[in-house]
Amino acid sequence: MTENISHNIKDIQAVIAKTTKKWNRKAGDVTLVAVSKVQPDERIDAALAAGQRTFGENRVQEAYAHWESRRADYPDLRLHLIGPLQSNKAADAVALFDVIETVDRKKIARVLGQEMEKQGRKLPCFIQVNTGSEAQKAGVDPAELQQFYDYCIDECGLDIAGLMCIPPIDEPAGIHFAFLKTLADRIGVSALSMGMSADYPKAIAAGATYVRVGSALFGARAT
Ligand SMILES: *Cc1c(COP(=O)(O)O)cnc(C)c1O
Repeated sequence: MTENISHNIKDIQAVIAKTTKKWNRKAGDVTLVAVSKVQPDERIDAALAAGQRTFGENRVQEAYAHWESRRADYPDLRLHLIGPLQSNKAADAVALFDVIETVDRKKIARVLGQEMEKQGRKLPCFIQVNTGSEAQKAGVDPAELQQFYDYCIDECGLDIAGLMCIPPIDEPAGIHFAFLKTLADRIGVSALSMGMSADYPKAIAAGATYVRVGSALFGARAT
């Protein structure tokens, strides 16, 4: 199982390189975020041994279990928070992660700004956009994005590097990726986190700069 992981990473990097070229994008424009949530330690260690350094986790507590002790051995590690954040976990998130991809409401923007100030760690952040305006999904509604972006910058002092989305499962993802790109151009941010195992080449075609790949890299998650 674990010996497949270095092959998977090479395969995914090859697809990323090929797709980047096909769509006339610069080599190195797209960063692979290996989503290690719910994965056993030996798979994480196999990915590290294969040279992977950027990882995504969707829960703060689990991220500590996976990464707190490994951090010291990998100074070039980059950890992205890709799941919903509660304000009572903001301090822990700021202390562990390098990028927060899921800024999605005023309260969390405010608390993150305060924590970053307090800890002297100004992390790049992404605004999560609910591109499908789904009632149950996290993310800022597209119609409120400009106002929320201004709030994050002006009132909270956040460094907003880009946008992130998780398209509705029952719609073609490409439309949502293109929409997120349009929104990013409109507010003037350049980073785009979009695309998962099933659709990351489509996301690259639409302008993704980060793709979040879990099961295609590590194998299926235990449920
Ligand atoms: C789990 C998860 C992924 C990875 O999903 P796969 O389909 O396994 O690649 C990507 N993004 C987010 C936000 C996730 O929660």
